[in-house]
Amino acid sequence: MRFWRLPLDSESHSIPHGMVHIIENRCKGCGFCIEFCPNGCLKQSKRFNAKGYHPPELVLQADDCVDCGLCTLICPEFAIFTELKAPKKITEEDIRKVTTRYSRKDTRFIKP
Ligand code: SF4
Ligand code: SF4
Repeated sequence: MRFWRLPLDSESHSIPHGMVHIIENRCKGCGFCIEFCPNGCLKQSKRFNAKGYHPPELVLQADDCVDCGLCTLICPEFAIFTELKAPKKITEEDIRKVTTRYSRKDTRFIKP
């Protein structure tokens, strides 16, 4: 679905907001959390942890975490978890991000 403006009832809705915590030394660098975060909140860092792997880190738009919990569920090493923060109001920018992220131009969602 494409929105071309803020929905008229946007005041009555909010977006969940999560803060991501990474326990770097548990990470084994599998990249599952990076690959499957629906909002693209994570990327591989350049740092090495104690095991010699590159743990994930937040990308600049880390505010996009919606506390869906997928990274926590999928991590085989229990190395990442989120904390629910106060919900955010929906803005024009959020609508733009959603329509861009899930548009056909986003090749992350196009299978080869
Ligand atoms: S909780 Fe969901 S949106 Fe937030 S970083 Fe994890 S997978 Fe991404
Ligand atoms: S899923 Fe867990 S072990 Fe794999 S990269 Fe993410 S934090 Fe590290």
